Amino acid sequence: MSQITKNVKRILAELPEGVLLVAAVKSRLLAEILEALEAGAKVMGENYLQEAETAYEVIGNRAQWHFIGHLQKNKVKKAVQLFDMIETVDSAAIATLIDKRCEQTGKVMPVLIEVNSGREPQKSGVLPEDAERLVRQIAEYNKIRVRGLMTMGPATGDPEDSRPYFVETRKVFEKIKSLDIPEVEMKYLSMGMTNSYRVAIEEGANIVRLGSIIFGDRPPGK
Ligand SMILES: *Cc1c(COP(=O)(O)O)cnc(C)c1O
Repeated sequence: MSQITKNVKRILAELPEGVLLVAAVKSRLLAEILEALEAGAKVMGENYLQEAETAYEVIGNRAQWHFIGHLQKNKVKKAVQLFDMIETVDSAAIATLIDKRCEQTGKVMPVLIEVNSGREPQKSGVLPEDAERLVRQIAEYNKIRVRGLMTMGPATGDPEDSRPYFVETRKVFEKIKSLDIPEVEMKYLSMGMTNSYRVAIEEGANIVRLGSIIFGDRPPGK
């Protein structure tokens, strides 16, 4: 068994029931992605449209595709075409474009709202206190459906340092869930990467996005 196969199988066995593995495949070779798929990873998370397109041509809907990168306005068309979920919606402007594009193609797009839980100025995502307002706005649209929240949190060495950001995002998630906003289903909480996924699961994550622990370290700068 190759290392990727072993890693996927080990992680799938380790994850508690109800926690979904998204394999973060940015900058990986197609052969590596295929290996993860064959080992049982059913959902691929992509940051880059171009890469996703290439991989999609071969893999198609044998996998589900989640967009986990920063979505640019001029890429919405392609994103709506390729992806089964967009995890990184953080403005009414981008949501409007997704909704319009879905209207044209007859698709309904489930999305997560990205929360900038670390309040880092250079990072995308809405501030925790602004998430509810954005959810209410998107709830008015026809073809885009809020299905939960996603957060990255600041990069940390010690996974414990991530905990407060996950706790805060969970609080926002529960608050919005308790509001029972029509057309909004707070089902998914996407938190945790290689370094922090165990802590994220303890704090309520039911989607974890894992790259390096499956595929090995990424080349620097990627
Ligand atoms: C790259 C990436 C991941 C996975 O990171 P690893 O540390 O390699 O597990 C998760 N989420 C997002 C948004 C990413 O860009």
